Amino acid sequence: MRHYAVFGNPISHSKSPLLHNFVFRSLNIPSLYGRYALQGSGSLAETFRSLRLTGANVTVPFKEEAFDACDTIHGIAQKIGSVNTLRLEDGKINGYNTDAEGFYKTLEGKISPKRVLILGAGGTAKALATIFREKQIPCTLLNRSKHRLEPLIKAGHSALSHEEFSPSAFDLILNATSAGLSDDSLPLPKEQLQELFVHGSLAYDVIYGKETPFLRLAKAQNLSTQDGRAMLIEQAALSAFYFNDQNIPLETLRALMHQILPAS
Ligand code: NDP
Repeated sequence: MRHYAVFGNPISHSKSPLLHNFVFRSLNIPSLYGRYALQGSGSLAETFRSLRLTGANVTVPFKEEAFDACDTIHGIAQKIGSVNTLRLEDGKINGYNTDAEGFYKTLEGKISPKRVLILGAGGTAKALATIFREKQIPCTLLNRSKHRLEPLIKAGHSALSHEEFSPSAFDLILNATSAGLSDDSLPLPKEQLQELFVHGSLAYDVIYGKETPFLRLAKAQNLSTQDGRAMLIEQAALSAFYFNDQNIPLETLRALMHQILPAS
């Protein structure tokens, strides 16, 4: 029996146990997946090892700490500087970031963006900006507070504060903030969003499980919209691919996860 968990705080809302346990049950894999609320920083690696986990997912606010906890970092996680998937192999902790590639996969058949605006400058925004840079798609990050901008600019991203920004034409407008997650706030003043939506093709919110004020406003202007459910599934399917020794086709994992998590 192998054991897995998702680490975060808060963590009770996480759909990861549902998704991964359904895969294990459906494919008769002798594994169990739980959730673990970490209290404060500094204990992730020790907890991972003391629980004798084979793998784990990591969510807010521990993705940077997870990066530091790894013995080996794979793929795009090296450029992002954060990790959401851990896998123990020969006693070493391997780290992956499946948010960026999982997210990018969800654009297939929806949009081939030419110019992207990302609202937010947290861990998720940085992961998305990094994959756009990899794909050579021009992308601007826009954040409410200035303190998060400097490291992004240093890393070569185009990043602005709200005061420095005046709306122009972006075809993909992405909410990667937590505005609307547990409140009714918009990630940018309403008038600015309305102006952006006039020129946009798709409004995408990474939040899932509810219609956010951001998506409601976009719909009111007849803009195409997408919530974070598909991204949740893609990043989880890619994690499951790593958990299961890369032996189970990604399509199988994705299809099972779509089956268990109904559209909101
Ligand atoms: P972080 O805490 O790292 O960053 C939060 C960001 O949101 C900051 O840029 C912050 O700006 C901004 N923000 C928060 N509240 C507001 C507000 N009222 N108005 C404007 N900006 C605001 O979070 P993450 O990057 O880890 O997560 C962001 C979102 O992505 C969350 O809602 C999370 O649930 C979602 N997510 C979804 C996934 C999926 O699979 N669908 C996967 C991963 C994350 P400031 O610096 O000014 O505070």
